Amino acid sequence: ARLLNVKLDTLQRKMRRAGMEEQTSHDHMLSSDYSSLLAMEFGRNPVVNDEAAFDIHPPPPPVDKSSLPLRPPVVTIMGHVDHGKTTLLDTLRSTSVAKGEAGGITQHIGAFSVPVPATSGGDKRSITFLDTPGHAAFSAMRARGASVTDIVVLVVAADDGIMPQTKEVIELVQKEQDKVGLVVAVNKIDKPDVDIDRVEKMLLAANVLLERFGGDVPCVHVSGLNGEGLDQLVETINAVAEMQDVRAEQKDVVQGYVLESKMQKGLGPVATVLLLRGVMKSGIHLICGTTHAKVRSLTSPSGESVKTVLPGSAAVVSGWKELPNAGDEVLSGSETDIKRAIGNRIRKAEIEASMTDMEAINVNRKEERERREAEENDTRERKRLHASGLTPEAPEVKEERKELTIVVKADVSGSAEAVAQAIMGVGNDIAGTKIIATGVGDVSESDVMRAKAAQGLIVAFGVKVPRAMESLAAGQEVPIVSSTIIYRLLDQVKEHVIKLLPVTY
Ligand code: GDP
Repeated sequence: ARLLNVKLDTLQRKMRRAGMEEQTSHDHMLSSDYSSLLAMEFGRNPVVNDEAAFDIHPPPPPVDKSSLPLRPPVVTIMGHVDHGKTTLLDTLRSTSVAKGEAGGITQHIGAFSVPVPATSGGDKRSITFLDTPGHAAFSAMRARGASVTDIVVLVVAADDGIMPQTKEVIELVQKEQDKVGLVVAVNKIDKPDVDIDRVEKMLLAANVLLERFGGDVPCVHVSGLNGEGLDQLVETINAVAEMQDVRAEQKDVVQGYVLESKMQKGLGPVATVLLLRGVMKSGIHLICGTTHAKVRSLTSPSGESVKTVLPGSAAVVSGWKELPNAGDEVLSGSETDIKRAIGNRIRKAEIEASMTDMEAINVNRKEERERREAEENDTRERKRLHASGLTPEAPEVKEERKELTIVVKADVSGSAEAVAQAIMGVGNDIAGTKIIATGVGDVSESDVMRAKAAQGLIVAFGVKVPRAMESLAAGQEVPIVSSTIIYRLLDQVKEHVIKLLPVTY
């Protein structure tokens, strides 16, 4: 209707008259035949664009993988909060730097690589660790059925045992057990009086069949704090990877996923890409969501500029037109194919957005109608009761849920999503939160105005709030909560939500 510049009603009427009764719902996708016919009804000259559905897809992987080159396994460390995931990752990362593999810079880019001590064959092997396991990007990837992890290391603190999130990880791994390997790391063994035996028996009771009990899940005892057992952990992961025999093509198509993205001074938008197939080189063309890149530079997790990136490793890629989204798939193609695909993806996104708009309008209309009907019924009922000499009982007041509107700004898109996810969990039936925008970068004027328009507040995670923005926000009475620590942010958001609750006496 928008393209034809007519009202939706008019279009629907015309459709019904043309015998298209069944196709008139606003979210029905018309075939090109029907839409051509309709366009002609309105005196237009339709042109069917066969290109409009063009997109880039990776070809299916070869059936026989055995002849492909091996690639490093991708490992995620998971476990209950405070069981030592971050400490373990930090120690693994810094020991790999100390071993001289890296350029000495330990920047957080979403992944890093740890060398495996030379095997009997003498070939150099390594393991890629993802370093933000709780990442919203991962649930996004999983929701699309993309599992990027080959092996999960389940960290269990020896002084705490199995906790709710430990169980979640066990369930997750068991669901994907044909794709994902499991290694248990009993952590914090440096603490006095820890009972490792007890923890292992708890694991058995939770259906994790450790090798010691005749199962096939290896278990390593470690201390992330002092590094004890980490060599053995790396060797164990490598052994599991060898059994899994992870291999990938190093030619033709590039396929990977964005772990993180951010704006970087001098480079513009950059994204950490975890490569699963193909070889990334500078100069190749990539597509990701509705943005694309001619790869300008590739930087390894240790900060070195590299010429090529092989499957199973991650690198920071620059050359993007716009910031890609964490969790989105990255594919390569010819410049022309990518331009065509981008055009179509943008058009598709626009259509989807305008359909959501239309749905929202329809929902609003429906709600409005229902509200009016309810009011009318109510008045009728009152009149009836009044006429019959009865007085109505005090109606039960059902208050609408009050919502605190929030604009989230964060340092990288992955953390923006993670913060937004966490904030959405704040509140109850009576009062809660509603995220109206998330973004990457310092707090800006448009953030303040957006929050002002929605009478909301700004949550800034790990980004600067420029002095000028602070005073602008103060003038507009827009609160800003800012911290680099997520639970502090949540506490402050909670305080604001509590203020929305009705006062009770
Ligand atoms: P995460 O929430 O799983 O990432 O846990 P953290 O790595 O933040 O660790 C939580 C707390 O446990 C911190 O105070 C760490 O210093 C401590 N911790 C982590 N690993 C060890 C360990 O191996 N031994 C001891 N004694 N403490 C540890």
